[in-house]
Amino acid sequence: MLDESPKSATGYLALVDGTIYASPTEAPIAGGVVLIQDEKIAAVARRTQVQVPSTAQVLDCSGGTITAGFWNNHVHFFERKWANAAEIPAAELSRQIQDMVTRYGFTSVFDLSSMWENTRRLRERIELGELPGPTIRTTGEGLIPPGAVPSEAVLGVLGVMNFPAPEIADASQATAAARKLLEKGVDGIKLFASSPRSTPLPESAIRAAVYEAHKAGKPVFVHPNSGADVLTAVRAGVDIVAHTTPYSGDWDRSILTTMQERKVALIPTLKIWLEFMRHDRMSAQEKAAKAETGQLRAWVDAGGTVLFGTDVSYINYDPSDEYALMAEAGMSFRQILASLTTAPAERFGDSKRGRIAPGLQADLVVLKGDPARNIRALASVQQTVRAGRIIYRASD
Ligand SMILES: [Zn+2]
Repeated sequence: MLDESPKSATGYLALVDGTIYASPTEAPIAGGVVLIQDEKIAAVARRTQVQVPSTAQVLDCSGGTITAGFWNNHVHFFERKWANAAEIPAAELSRQIQDMVTRYGFTSVFDLSSMWENTRRLRERIELGELPGPTIRTTGEGLIPPGAVPSEAVLGVLGVMNFPAPEIADASQATAAARKLLEKGVDGIKLFASSPRSTPLPESAIRAAVYEAHKAGKPVFVHPNSGADVLTAVRAGVDIVAHTTPYSGDWDRSILTTMQERKVALIPTLKIWLEFMRHDRMSAQEKAAKAETGQLRAWVDAGGTVLFGTDVSYINYDPSDEYALMAEAGMSFRQILASLTTAPAERFGDSKRGRIAPGLQADLVVLKGDPARNIRALASVQQTVRAGRIIYRASD
């Protein structure tokens, strides 16, 4: 059962008797209540301290855990299933969104390269209330080095739409391409630093795109393939490193120090690399796992900001392996929760979201179990609530 129109008033909704993590730093409230009025949080406290109006719709969350809505900060709406998003029947589009996004508790996503016009229409249909879905931010088409687009055959196997991405070879092309996207209204700029099929982007081109994005107040993301790519991009001013680089070994001090000095954020995407490597020898897979978790561990030990992201698109949608790998890299439940909630809200300047507090937007997740005991419980969602409306409800 899904509420059909996110736009209309919802009255009161009360999530009762769950363990509430209002934020990653506060003590949990056992047997608490989150009271929602229309699209906002009205109260969060112990059961005895909140007056639940008799007209409220009540969700029994006993045995479960309540947190702020999750952000997946690295997704792509570029699989063939999203093509012609304006024409797909709302019911089918809704099932696709649920399958990839809302059933895992994501109420906000950042799409880091897809067809701008198509993703814009998808977002518009959600915002108009045609179907339930997350808040979508998007960079539109990512900027790539010349010749970096995979062949039609490879795209076909990956299941990805063939859409033209702006190719940039130098600073003036980067400036023009970034301006064009920013004028259309994208929420950030994505750069692919290098590709096995081309020479890497020159630092001056990255710098030029960063300049345009920052002038418009928008963040810049980079897809690196090596530690050297990370260093070049961070020196050129990018804000967010959208992957670890498991094929290039440990990140040395100079990389980590530069990342720290520039206060960048890291999206680890640990699971996708191992999924790509599933046909390789086990020793190679183990080496990559060790490298990527080592990079994340070093970044966390350095006090760096982590934003949760899986690069979900043509990979399996379930994020539970990502959570397990982040824990393996030494991140605590609370650190992982921060990467899903407060860290992205803060990084993207969204003061209405990220925590459970009166007055904030009612974006919430009800989990079936206790992620403080088993981190995979973060992927086991009972209900997802966006702006006070239930946008996903598990069938069991
Ligand atoms: Zn990606």
